[in-house]
Amino acid sequence: MDNFISINPYNGQVVHTFKAISEKELEEKLNLSQTVFQSWKATSLADRTDLLKRVGSLLRDNTLEYAKMITLEMGKPIQESIGEINKCALVCDYYADNAKAFLADEVIPTEAKLSFVKQDPIGTIFAVMPWNFPFWQVFRFLAPTLTAGNNAVLKHASNVFGCAALIESIFLKAGYPIGVFQNLIVHHNQTEKIIAHKTIKAVSLTGSEAAGSAVAAIAGKHIKKSLLELGGSNAFIVWEDADIDQIIQTAVNARMLNNGQSCIAAKRFILLEGIYDEFVDKFKAAVSTLKSGDTMDKNTAIGPLARIDLANQLQEQVQTSINAGAVLILGGQQKDCFHEPTILGNVKPGMPAFDEETFGPLAAMIKAKDIEHAFALSEMSTFGLGITVCTQDIEKALSYAGRVSDGAYFINELVKSDPRLPFGGTKKSGYGRELAKDGILEFVNRKTVYVK
Ligand code: NDP
Repeated sequence: MDNFISINPYNGQVVHTFKAISEKELEEKLNLSQTVFQSWKATSLADRTDLLKRVGSLLRDNTLEYAKMITLEMGKPIQESIGEINKCALVCDYYADNAKAFLADEVIPTEAKLSFVKQDPIGTIFAVMPWNFPFWQVFRFLAPTLTAGNNAVLKHASNVFGCAALIESIFLKAGYPIGVFQNLIVHHNQTEKIIAHKTIKAVSLTGSEAAGSAVAAIAGKHIKKSLLELGGSNAFIVWEDADIDQIIQTAVNARMLNNGQSCIAAKRFILLEGIYDEFVDKFKAAVSTLKSGDTMDKNTAIGPLARIDLANQLQEQVQTSINAGAVLILGGQQKDCFHEPTILGNVKPGMPAFDEETFGPLAAMIKAKDIEHAFALSEMSTFGLGITVCTQDIEKALSYAGRVSDGAYFINELVKSDPRLPFGGTKKSGYGRELAKDGILEFVNRKTVYVK
């Protein structure tokens, strides 16, 4: 049987060891979920939103304890882990306050006496989640999914099983019936067995293209719905009229938050020729001030990457890009899980820093001849999560909104997730939407009711 070890990437110390559940235990958990769904879906929405509010309160009452588990297991600086827990509380409040309106019957006038759409839960949803926001990614799935009356089972990334266990304990402590949400300590090679099980009605995955493709193929084979939130290589486009001093901190945050390990991070800075040098100089100066060090220190901005293989992969992308003609402007060194914040200039299509998702503190600087060229470079990505455009000409920027194929278009702001706004990608970034009203309607049976 597998053992899973979480290792603190800051100091290499073992945080936890978890033993995989047996085949028999897995079967029991899935059967329990099926049984409990019958009573859970019959609870009132008010009861479900009350429970969700209690989860929000627990998050607020124990923020530091939960944040520490994130930092220990995947190396996020503690101040950002605290922010992540607070955001989870917000998403709980949001669905507790809005679920009634989102799930209300939707009357559609026809020639019938009455015709409407009813939003019914569909059963147990299987979540496969990543380590980069080990609480947030799970909460943004669970808050709407459970509140709609579904059950859920989670297979978290195997380096953050401590977070997974804590999350399960929070829902139980809040009073959710046993079996409504269960954490599964399993290897990802159990995925097909789980998806194929009669209990599972759909699957939601956040992670890499490879994992998404594997899981979606299995879901398709068993004719079960899938939602995929995959990687990204967002462009951060700066026009010549942009106020560089005003946007520079936004640009740094867009790339360096979470040590650069975010699907919606700005990875390609596409700069019009006239402001290229000024932007790069100011970006370099701002990045140079970021303090790296002890992840439990509230002043630390840059920690290690979550695992050694991820740091090695980033280093390889940096070196291959340099060998192909990119210019090293800052950083470039790796030691164990630590990778220096790195800036590459003269980045072009054909280099990993342009073509691939770079999951760490690497900013690629790309020169564009004009606005059309900048958008063309942005669209060359196989991903489509979101882009940012910085300019003082809001009207002109808005006129491009319809031409951008990504799932989000932000003007003068970094691409970010917000419980009130739909979140999701196009192309190899996946399909489906989380958060907002869209998120709660992803896993319901929109049932047509007709009265002659
Ligand atoms: P993965 O996509 O491998 O991990 C995400 C989740 O998927 C984990 O729970 C993982 O389980 C699971 N998983 C992996 N492979 C399969 C599979 N074949 N079938 C079912 N489930 C699977 O990400 P990595 O941790 O390996 O990171 C690699 C790269 O992925 C990163 O460098 C980054 O580019 C991208 N990534 C993107 C994220 C995003 O937010 N969009 C988040 C994380 C990674 P297990 O841990 O047990 O392997």
